[in-house]
Amino acid sequence: MVSARPAVAAMPAYRPGRNPADLAREIGVDRAVKLASNEVAFPPLPAVLQAVATTAGETNRYPDNGATVLTAALAERYRVAPEQVAVGCGAVTVCQQLAQAYTEPGSSIAFAWRSFEMYPLLAQVAGAGTRPVPLVPGADGGSPDTHDLTALAAAVDEDTRLVFVCNPNNPTGTAVRRAGLERFLDSVPDTVLVVLDEAYREFVTDPDVPDGVELMRGRPNVAVLRTFSKAWGLAGLRVGYLLAEDPAVADAVRRTQVPFSVSSLAQAAAVAALASEDEVRQRCAAVVAERGRLTEELRRRGLPVADSQANFVWLPLGERTAEVAAALEARAVITRPFAGEGLRVSIGTPEEDDVFLGALDAVLTSEPAGRPST
Ligand SMILES: *Cc1c(COP(=O)(O)O)cnc(C)c1O
Repeated sequence: MVSARPAVAAMPAYRPGRNPADLAREIGVDRAVKLASNEVAFPPLPAVLQAVATTAGETNRYPDNGATVLTAALAERYRVAPEQVAVGCGAVTVCQQLAQAYTEPGSSIAFAWRSFEMYPLLAQVAGAGTRPVPLVPGADGGSPDTHDLTALAAAVDEDTRLVFVCNPNNPTGTAVRRAGLERFLDSVPDTVLVVLDEAYREFVTDPDVPDGVELMRGRPNVAVLRTFSKAWGLAGLRVGYLLAEDPAVADAVRRTQVPFSVSSLAQAAAVAALASEDEVRQRCAAVVAERGRLTEELRRRGLPVADSQANFVWLPLGERTAEVAAALEARAVITRPFAGEGLRVSIGTPEEDDVFLGALDAVLTSEPAGRPST
């Protein structure tokens, strides 16, 4: 019998999210609403559909392994050199490449917790240790939902090679501000790579939340992660990228890339999406407006929802999280529960969000306690 490495065998099995079509069929409704994966509800951009259709005719060939055209477009967009850019098969894969490139058994990766669920898993695959640092309440008397950058800096020790700062934080939606983040970057040794995971940057409206690309300038141990999966609407095509102040960091990511892992369709679509930035900005503005409405509606119901800078909101339902998520699902609404902590709900269309609010009202009023515990 063969056995996988203990670290791999110990990993949780992949549990696919509910598929809305399957759920709708199972409970006998026309349509289920999926607010679980932080995609945008808009269809692909017209220019993206066009680019994919055109490129389809070339898919007998391998893609450009250097993603030259996309890399040049990103370099121009962010005013960095192409050598500072590394494109990957989704930002998640870039995270994994960073773990492979910068850690080894005996070293560690630091990050806030709860944060993006991939961080501990990719450390485990790389054989690295973890330094999870608990979130703290962002508001007086609130639930823990915000990075504790002082504690995160203190958790960095001589074994730590990599720090992820997810800003805004998935799943809580809170963001750290410029002053705190600058202080943090100043206090981390320059032998430790700090990766600012800005998967949701395009939805940030608070001017005090810094743009990581600006922050990294002059700091060779800082890099920024972005993705086409969320605001740019390419979740199904898998493209993300890293921008690094030090070209050696981007080079290390390119060296650990599985060859040809960014498909020609993905590359062409990403280039087309970048060229449609005005349209993307309009879509983001609509998401932000809807985020404001949904936040208000939830607060009117007595739910202590933190200000989100992302395209989702966080309901700190504590022990009732799993039960509320299951009850919502029975009413054809798929959300993302973190059992014992809270529910992450992606911003959908206004119609989808109204379905969610209606279902939530039914769920909360049908329960004896009547109000969520936090
Ligand atoms: C969604 C997400 C990503 C990127 O996902 P890809 O689809 O792999 O590009 C990265 N970081 C965070 C925090 C995310 O939520």
